Amino acid sequence: MAKAIFLDRDGVINKEVQFVARPEEFHLLPNTIEALKLLNKTDYKLIIITNQSGMGYGYYTEENYNAVTDKMLKLFAEEGIRIDDIFYCPHRYEEECNCRKPNTGMLKKAKAKYDIDFSQSWLIGDKTSDIKAGENIGAKTILVLTGAGGKDSRYDIKPDYVAADLLEAAYFILEK
Ligand SMILES: [Zn+2]
Repeated sequence: MAKAIFLDRDGVINKEVQFVARPEEFHLLPNTIEALKLLNKTDYKLIIITNQSGMGYGYYTEENYNAVTDKMLKLFAEEGIRIDDIFYCPHRYEEECNCRKPNTGMLKKAKAKYDIDFSQSWLIGDKTSDIKAGENIGAKTILVLTGAGGKDSRYDIKPDYVAADLLEAAYFILEK
């Protein structure tokens, strides 16, 4: 079985703004490149899982989202960084879909696609809904203090580790 590091996007990889609707609004956090380069040297798959309800609410379209993704992947490609896959949930909170974190639909889709062992995997996020999703699948979880930094307080969470940012989270995983 494979193992994965599941990464939230906004607030973990790039600066959190209310909605990242256009490529111009997508800016990597300072240590993201270094962190991903380190994680690429491990045998974990790197999989981004991101709630994008702004699409469901009509703040931006799937086309806008794809343009943001293209910019992100271009920035990564320039640095030789590999991302194995990206899953997103376009639904509104009110739709009660099974994919919007803390629900586990995106994670289960990834598990089926890559035969991932959740118990050997990590989830890194800045919101309580991220960490809760990781807990819901039995993965190890790291809360990062960038972005929301867990201050949304929506869910009661017990992250396995709290890191200043993605780079510190990467170091923590490498030491394990
Ligand atoms: Zn959804």
